[in-house]
Amino acid sequence: MATFVDRVTLHAAAGKGGDGCVSVHREKFVPLGGPDGGSGGRGGDVILVVDPGVTTLLDFHHSPHRNATSGRQGYGSLKNGPDGDDLILGVPNGTVVLTKDGKVLADLVGTGSRFVAARGGQGGLGNAALSSSRRRAPGFALLGEPGEKRTLILELKSVADIGLIGFPSAGKSSLIVAISAARPKIADYPFTTLAPNLGVVQAGESRFTVADVPGLIPGASVGKGLGLEFLRHIERCTTLVHVLDCGALESDRDPIKDFEIIESELKNYSADLSDRPRLIALNKIDLPDGKAIADMVEPKLKARGFQVFQVSAAARIGLSELLFAMAKTVNEYRAAQKFDEKARIVLRPTPVDDRGFEVIVNDDGSFTVLGTKPERWVHQTNFSNAEAIGYLADRLASFGVEKELFKKGAKAGSEVRIGNGKEAVIFDWEPTIEAGAELLAGPRGDDLRIPRGWEKFDDEAIDQLDDEELALQWENQVANPTTPRIEGEIR
Ligand code: GDP
Ligand code: MG
Repeated sequence: MATFVDRVTLHAAAGKGGDGCVSVHREKFVPLGGPDGGSGGRGGDVILVVDPGVTTLLDFHHSPHRNATSGRQGYGSLKNGPDGDDLILGVPNGTVVLTKDGKVLADLVGTGSRFVAARGGQGGLGNAALSSSRRRAPGFALLGEPGEKRTLILELKSVADIGLIGFPSAGKSSLIVAISAARPKIADYPFTTLAPNLGVVQAGESRFTVADVPGLIPGASVGKGLGLEFLRHIERCTTLVHVLDCGALESDRDPIKDFEIIESELKNYSADLSDRPRLIALNKIDLPDGKAIADMVEPKLKARGFQVFQVSAAARIGLSELLFAMAKTVNEYRAAQKFDEKARIVLRPTPVDDRGFEVIVNDDGSFTVLGTKPERWVHQTNFSNAEAIGYLADRLASFGVEKELFKKGAKAGSEVRIGNGKEAVIFDWEPTIEAGAELLAGPRGDDLRIPRGWEKFDDEAIDQLDDEELALQWENQVANPTTPRIEGEIR
């Protein structure tokens, strides 16, 4: 029998976005037809989907690293790169997704419920998409963003209509065998079952699932034994059935005491379970002592307002009455529920805070810039292309990062780091405001040789450029060698 794995770690890596393409349209008599580099494709997401065919998290235990494919790079002639494929991972109904520190991100109940475990990186814009009236001929493109990488904890909480609860050896597993097709292990020692068994029960017209929840011992609600693990499984059940052992030989055990101990564990558990409808099954009445004890405690429990059933899981006595009572409670609950498929899908993706940034002055006099946007922009920058770096500088400046660096005391040559850890980019700061690059070159990414409205080829505009200016532009071009990704070239 396969081990039951109900808590696994998943390392999900989404696909990287494809890089944007730098290309210039070329055609006979249209030597500089304008930028036509397509954008890169989006990286694939890693998505968890509830699949009724999947019942355990075992697969993730064996291969915890899952990667989606990357987007492809863009091409010339305005062709965008294809997106990467999403990686769809089937998980059992009732899978809870948590962060490493235990924060619940999603609670996947209901076939088809989805959760994006890691989001694919955006494709980089090609130079066509980067062009604007201000920047008519960008000689650079943006790189695809890296895909999100997340370490998540997946936990399975069984989703059953009814949970069987009781001391070890009370006969829960035996009862599941007697009323369903499930075939759990049954043995005569405590701690028989370490994982809940799920059985499907057909009682007349009704069909419902029953889970046998093992391991409830005194102190379970404060984590004794595997108590909390097991109580977690009961959380989903709409109805609980106490299975009380009336045939126990130990003199210090009696069904009422057992019942009260289990009740207090339910009450003490963080998600108070004592509000669930409960039925009581007095088990093992096939034993002479069992029947006597059952007869003794039945009125006492009834007096507390519970429905009580005398049964024998082994000899299959009294089971149909119990089953119909189970069916009735489940049906009542279902009828009271306004069934809304959509409401079952609870998704809480990580909120993205892209409003601002923060400039930190480090002890060594260097500066660190943190912020979703600046860090994204850095990932999108091809640092072998001067124009792309310039574009990054423009973005940082208009976002106010430059100003803030100034304010915090950064000077030309100061070490500035954008982002944290391995992905950080470090450079010696050269404030564009001082460099005055803009004054010389006009808006960045423009090529004065390209006439305004290049779409309608316009000799006049070309003629307006004097030779000197053309020569200057040419030199500029040589001084800023283009990246190998270039598909068309400026002649
Ligand atoms: P669980 O720990 O609650 O799942 O209990 P099990 O179903 O594993 O049963 C524990 C022991 O009690 C096993 O040896 C069963 O054969 C026995 N048992 C369960 N139900 C009955 C019953 O109705 N009558 C008798 N005589 N023994 C039973
Ligand atoms: Mg059992």
